[in-house]
Amino acid sequence: MLQLTAILRSVYPNLSPYIALLPDLPIEEMKKALGKEKITKLSFNENPLGPSPKALAAMAQALQTLNLYPASVDNVLQAALAAKEGVNPKQIVFANGADEMIVLTALAFLAAEDEAIIPAVTFVQYLAAVNLMGAKPVLVQLTPDFRIDLDGILKAITPKTKLIFLCNPNNPTGRIIPEADMAAFLAQVPENILVVVDEAYHEYAADSKYDTSIKFIGRGTPLLVIRTFSKIYSLAAARLGYGISSPELAAALNRFRLPFNINGVVQAGALASLGDEGQIQKARDMNEVGKQIVYEGFAALGWDYIPTNGNFVFVDTGRDAQWIYEQLLEEGIVVRTLAGYGLNSFLRVSIGKENEMRALIEALKRIVDVSK
Ligand SMILES: *Cc1c(COP(=O)(O)O)cnc(C)c1O
Repeated sequence: MLQLTAILRSVYPNLSPYIALLPDLPIEEMKKALGKEKITKLSFNENPLGPSPKALAAMAQALQTLNLYPASVDNVLQAALAAKEGVNPKQIVFANGADEMIVLTALAFLAAEDEAIIPAVTFVQYLAAVNLMGAKPVLVQLTPDFRIDLDGILKAITPKTKLIFLCNPNNPTGRIIPEADMAAFLAQVPENILVVVDEAYHEYAADSKYDTSIKFIGRGTPLLVIRTFSKIYSLAAARLGYGISSPELAAALNRFRLPFNINGVVQAGALASLGDEGQIQKARDMNEVGKQIVYEGFAALGWDYIPTNGNFVFVDTGRDAQWIYEQLLEEGIVVRTLAGYGLNSFLRVSIGKENEMRALIEALKRIVDVSK
C-alpha cells in the first residue's frame, strides 16, 4: 500500500498538527473538558467587551446577501482603512486573519534554502509559516530583560536571510520595540530582506516610546506591517487581518492570495467597527481597569510582571507555573503557561472583565497561601 508520506511535500514531517490543548479550546469545549458550568478564559487574549453593536448590525444586514460573492480587491473597506492609516489603498492586502497574512508572506518569499529570523519568545505562527515552506527558522534569544534583541538579530543575518519577523508589542511579553530602536535597526537591515512587523496589539500599546512602523514603509529595507480585527475590534471568530506595505509589495502579495479569502460578513463588520471609535475607547478602558487589578494583585503576591502594551500580562510566579495553572483550572480559570519557551515559572494572563480579574487574584491568593 502507498505510504501517504511518499507523495506529501517533504516538509510534512516538520509540520506540527494544531493540537488544541485546554487553553486553546473554545469556552464551551472547556466547560465540557473540565466538567464546569462556568469558565473564565484568560488564555487567548480575546477582548471581553465584544464587537461594536454597529458591527453586529452591519453583519446581520450582510447575511441577507450571503448567496453573493464578496468584494475582493479595491473595496470600500480597503479605502476606509487606508484613510484611517494615512496610506494609499493599494498598500493594503487582506487576509483571513493576521495568521493568514503571515502564511501568505512566507509563501511569497521563502524557498527551502532560505532563512527567516524569529525572536525565540514570540507569537508561534511565524515559526509555523517558515516550517510550512521548508525554510530554515533562525531563532534569536530575547535579552535578559525579555526585550527583542535587535542587535542579536542583525548578527544573525546571513546571505540566506529573506525575512525577519518582529512582533511589536510582543506577545507574550507585552514589551514594545521603541520607535527610535526600530528606526536604527531598519537602517542597518540590508535591502534584500523583508522585515515583517506584527502589530496585532497596536491599539492597546500605551508606552509613549511606541509608534506604528507604517511610517518606515518605502524608506530603505522592505517592510510589511500586519494588523488584525481579532483583538481590540473583537472580531476574532469572523477572521480578518491585513498587511500594509509598499504598493509594489502589496501587489506581489496579492498574487499569492486567494481572491475571496475574506468573507462579506466580516467586511461589513470591520467597516462599521472603524466608524465606532467609542467602542475602541471602551475596550481600552476595560483593559486598563483589568490591568490595574492584576498589577496590584501580582505585586501583593510578590510576583514580578512586565507592564503590558497588550491585553495580557507576562508574570513570573517564582515557582512551577504549571502547578499554579492546574490549581487555577480547579477554580475554572484558564491561563497560559510558557514552558514551551523554557519559561517554567511564567504565565501569560489575558485581561478579562473586572470581576474576572478580581476572581483571578482572589484565587491566586488562596492558591499561593495554601502552598506555603
Ligand atoms: C492574536 C495574534 C494574531 C492572530 O490574529 P488573527 O487575525 O486572529 O489571525 C497575530 N499576531 C499576534 C502577535 C497575535 O497575538
